[in-house]
Amino acid sequence: MIKLVLLDVDGTLTDPGRLISLRAVEAIRKVQKDGITVSLASGNVIPVMYGLKTFIGVKAPVFAENGGAMFQNDEIFPFFSMEGPKKLFDRLEKEGKLKGILSNRWRLTSMAYVPSGEYAGEIAETAENEDLVTVDSGFSWHLLNRGQDKGFALDKLKEIYSLDYGEILVMGDSYNDAPMFRKDVVKVVPANAEEGLKKVADHITKEGNGDGVAEILLNLRSL
Ligand code: CA
Repeated sequence: MIKLVLLDVDGTLTDPGRLISLRAVEAIRKVQKDGITVSLASGNVIPVMYGLKTFIGVKAPVFAENGGAMFQNDEIFPFFSMEGPKKLFDRLEKEGKLKGILSNRWRLTSMAYVPSGEYAGEIAETAENEDLVTVDSGFSWHLLNRGQDKGFALDKLKEIYSLDYGEILVMGDSYNDAPMFRKDVVKVVPANAEEGLKKVADHITKEGNGDGVAEILLNLRSL
């Protein structure tokens, strides 16, 4: 039986224009009333996750920066250091290989960027050599510490709520969601998901984005 649902935000709760799905919001509120724990994990920053949690009414802790920081009970819990990502980001920016994005001013454990020209591969390689990782969320690239991913967020929730993987359902649309796809976890992707992610999913919703979220949340019992 599913007890906890962990959802990606961009491309999963939101449509290609980044508008949040009202059907998904209503479905989240409904399943929480039925006793299901719902959490969100995004590459976005704590202030955004704070807003989503507050205004949607998500009760569980929520995760920013691909699992790098958690927000709960008016407290921010950063699990990784900013030092490595910031140092490499500053160097690559000076070399003209990438550009930062607006939300970097609120980041605590990672940096987000758009690679210049053909530098995406070289940036990934340089990061690897410095024990960092890069990931493309489909909206921007992220420079992260090793082990900093949404799977880390999933394991935190598993620990906080003392659950088995089999009691957790995860849903996301892009490659930075893949670390949540642990063995025994129920893996769901919306119809708009990356093809590679669809191949490893247990369920592909008929509808895309937030309509897909509503579809799966309102049918949890039949899974
Ligand atoms: Ca996404």
